[in-house]
Amino acid sequence: RRFIEKLPKVELHAHLNGSISQQTIQRLIVLRRQRDPSWNSSCENATLESRSKTLADCFAVFSLLHDLVDNEEAASIVTNDVIREFAQDDNVKYIELRTTPRAMPATGMTKESYVRAVLSAMRKSEEDITVRLLLAIDRRTSIEDAADTLEMADRLRKETNGLVIGLDLSGDPTKPAEKFIPILKEAKKRGLKLALHIAEVNNMTDESRALLSVPPDRIGHGVFLHPDHGGNAQLLRLTHGPKIPIEICLTSNVTSGTVKVIQDHCFSQWRLIGHPCILCTDDKGVFSTSLNEEYILAAKEFHLSFEELWDLSLQSIDSIFESKEFKTELKAKFLSAKERCF
Ligand code: 5GP
Repeated sequence: RRFIEKLPKVELHAHLNGSISQQTIQRLIVLRRQRDPSWNSSCENATLESRSKTLADCFAVFSLLHDLVDNEEAASIVTNDVIREFAQDDNVKYIELRTTPRAMPATGMTKESYVRAVLSAMRKSEEDITVRLLLAIDRRTSIEDAADTLEMADRLRKETNGLVIGLDLSGDPTKPAEKFIPILKEAKKRGLKLALHIAEVNNMTDESRALLSVPPDRIGHGVFLHPDHGGNAQLLRLTHGPKIPIEICLTSNVTSGTVKVIQDHCFSQWRLIGHPCILCTDDKGVFSTSLNEEYILAAKEFHLSFEELWDLSLQSIDSIFESKEFKTELKAKFLSAKERCF
């Protein structure tokens, strides 16, 4: 554990509102009750510990969290706390957060004012960590709304000099996503990076093939792409040919029930063929995990040595959405910390 705590890391798959800690939730509840003393919610219980384990349960928790983060001040508190916790608790040196631009007519928050509050908190952070932002398209949304998110990402990328770096595709993985493909292709054409949730649930072969053909710059989950795990040779070729990195979220997949037991996770098959994999938390608040815990879990279940864990963390840098020069500098920073880890 001490080795993993000291290990410098990158986090490439963290949904902002899924990463809120219990302490932050308590703080937001207090603020909300000051504004509205009669307000009542089951947010105190916004983790999955006391719930059955299905994807639907996860999404019910997100609704509770969205009800709580209903204004710019709350969005700013959440961003600040999530960044601080990743930096201080998990020794994360580079993080790409992702969030869905969300309007709340009741408080006057718009999609753009929400994102601007997140960006402003990112800029103010004084932690030793580099933070970038992906704007998420929710599979449940309309094409018009997704197109609006693309325009916002494109505009804010230029305006913020690269703090906004691309798009994520997430939300209920059983909802079809093929209608968003022209928007995703347009995003790529404009130089935005794409991190897409693909094959998070089984039997999405056609959709997975279509999304992989865009192609994305990274894959979220990809639980059912490998032929040994419900995928097929074509999906394997589309993923492994161009070596599209996969964001691996072990606790999330087991807790939400998409993977029955951790030993069955496709992580080991991808590693076996030298495919780039990055350990990530997904929603550390909702799933009561941390990036340290994900590394500990991987070490225990897949028998990784200290040296292998070190390599896994260092190689994650190859998959970040930044320039060659930035990656070289970040690697040098990691290497300078290596002796202190072992
Ligand atoms: P937010 O975008 O509000 O910062 O983070 C929560 C949102 O991220 C959820 O409403 C959902 O759309 C998306 N999300 C979080 N975790 C997952 C996941 O494991 N799978 C998918 N498909 N979407 C997720």
